[in-house]
Amino acid sequence: MCRVIAVANQKGGVGKTTTCVNLGIGLAREGKKVLLIEADAQGSMAVSLGIQEPDELDVTLVNIMEKLINDKEPEPGEGIIHHEEGVDFIPANIELAGLETSLVNVMSREMVLRQYICGIKKQYDYILIDCPAGIERGFYNAIAGADRALIVTTPEVSAIRDADRVIGLLTAGNMPKIDLVINRIRIDMVRRGDMMSIEDVVGLLAVDLLGIVPDDENIVVSTNQGEPLVGTDCPAGEAYRNI
Ligand code: ADP
Ligand code: MG
Repeated sequence: MCRVIAVANQKGGVGKTTTCVNLGIGLAREGKKVLLIEADAQGSMAVSLGIQEPDELDVTLVNIMEKLINDKEPEPGEGIIHHEEGVDFIPANIELAGLETSLVNVMSREMVLRQYICGIKKQYDYILIDCPAGIERGFYNAIAGADRALIVTTPEVSAIRDADRVIGLLTAGNMPKIDLVINRIRIDMVRRGDMMSIEDVVGLLAVDLLGIVPDDENIVVSTNQGEPLVGTDCPAGEAYRNI
């Protein structure tokens, strides 16, 4: 059965996209069929995946949704990029502005995305949805088709507060399962009492901890080069494989 997981936090820059990409590729290497959906119009998932060719990004999630809204079926596989690492990928990479008008008096975008995911679900073991920051409409669109959520937070007060807010919204919306990844942990700082500990964060958020990812400069290199580091011989690479 396919698991549809929304990777979320209200706060930007906490590692949602990094987590999506690394978990997606890690799962693909385990032989799972994985689809990454970028539901963040300002997102940078293509860069993280090392996709530089703009023409590869011609058809996006927005185009697919526009078709569906206008009662046209997308071609099978339309807009889905097959990445060399074995994951499929639907980019957003476009302003959602045009869609706003085309939606007047029509089905809501949430419904459309939920239906679309329902339709393609059987082809995959995992669908990971990279949510935008914020809790505006884009967030609700992104989580609409998900049956699980993965909250990514850093151990900072502002990120945890935003994570808590999102957990509250997801709980109120009856999200069946919510898990947590704590990113950018620095054990030296935790020891000195300068950073919240894992126990503190889990205690505050009260959802199941899936794993922790250390602060690791290899991630910056990996993001810049578009080469995900899951499973490579570095602290974050090992952490993502474990997760
Ligand atoms: P979000 O999608 O939540 O906005 P990103 O995944 O784009 O966040 O990450 C934001 C920035 O933080 C990126 O430049 C990324 O390279 C960096 N980053 C993420 N996780 C780590 C980590 N564990 N160690 C070091 N840098 C990280
Ligand atoms: Mg992002």
